[in-house]
Amino acid sequence: MPAVRAVTFQAPGEVSVEERPEPELIAGDDAIVAVEATGICGSDLHIYHGRVQIEPGFTIGHEFVGTVLEAGDAVTSAAVGDRVLGCYCTACGTCFFCRRGAYHKCDHGRVFGHGATLGSLQGTQAERALVPHANLTLRRVPGGMSSDVALFAGDVMGTGYHAVSAAGLEPGDTVAVLGLGPVGLCAVQAARAAGAAQVIAVDSVDERLRMAKSFGALAVHLTEDDPRAAVKAATEGRGVDICVDAVGDPRALDLACRLARKAGTVSATGVYAERCEVHMGVVWIKALTLRTGHANVIGHVDRVLTMIEHGVLDPSPLVTHHMPLADAPEAYAAYDRREALKIVLTP
Ligand SMILES: [Zn+2]
Ligand SMILES: [Zn+2]
Repeated sequence: MPAVRAVTFQAPGEVSVEERPEPELIAGDDAIVAVEATGICGSDLHIYHGRVQIEPGFTIGHEFVGTVLEAGDAVTSAAVGDRVLGCYCTACGTCFFCRRGAYHKCDHGRVFGHGATLGSLQGTQAERALVPHANLTLRRVPGGMSSDVALFAGDVMGTGYHAVSAAGLEPGDTVAVLGLGPVGLCAVQAARAAGAAQVIAVDSVDERLRMAKSFGALAVHLTEDDPRAAVKAATEGRGVDICVDAVGDPRALDLACRLARKAGTVSATGVYAERCEVHMGVVWIKALTLRTGHANVIGHVDRVLTMIEHGVLDPSPLVTHHMPLADAPEAYAAYDRREALKIVLTP
């Protein structure tokens, strides 16, 4: 049987590069993509650590750019030979939720590289990937756009965009972003692009603070500075209109609820899988709106892609490392040690 190389989860702290069966078209709207670039994401680290459990031997990864090798008869939005980018998840396009535009909550949605619990869809850190519902999942890469940048549209930048658009950002708002990993940094850019008057960016890693500053944010160190004082000073003591939690930790969520102004919005974009206590007294008395959940990346991808194409959003500074797919074990270890912001693997 013909085989392709793929990055597979083995055990917590262990991934390997293995030969896997070559993917084949199943449904009429499937496509097979020859992957040219595939990112390692913070959610891949949840799998790497065993916090998100998947089957040993399952191919991981969900950010990808490549060329369409094969396409079923029902694929109309891309053709064999087209350079495409993929969204991190698939949606059917016809269920109750898809008909209302909530593609991220599709009844038949599947996430690449997340094992049986999220639809048993093999990941994209591989030479080839099977892409279901290709008409919704794939977009043509605009001419001249690099793979590095394009792969952000289908996941990380789409998530940063969602964090502020779901919060209902209006021009002139003041926004705080907690956590300056790739999603937080993309949220900083998306908030600026959406017309935020001020963006206050909070983290404890100097490099990330510097990058947020280069994107136009006011950088505030989590412990060496005082985020609450910084927000008060920037907002005449009111608090921010929108606070994005791009961490996914109860302490970040608590801080977000305290930094948001009365009748403000907290946008919890970081991943929560466990029970987490929220001070409902603070949420209620301040009349906060809480937005949560995965990003509706399929719903945003066309806008995000156009904004990247025209330089309104530019994720290119976030790519700090390129490595061959074969070096995935070292890449995961380096990412785990926080030595890289975004690693792009090339098969
Ligand atoms: Zn991701
Ligand atoms: Zn659906």
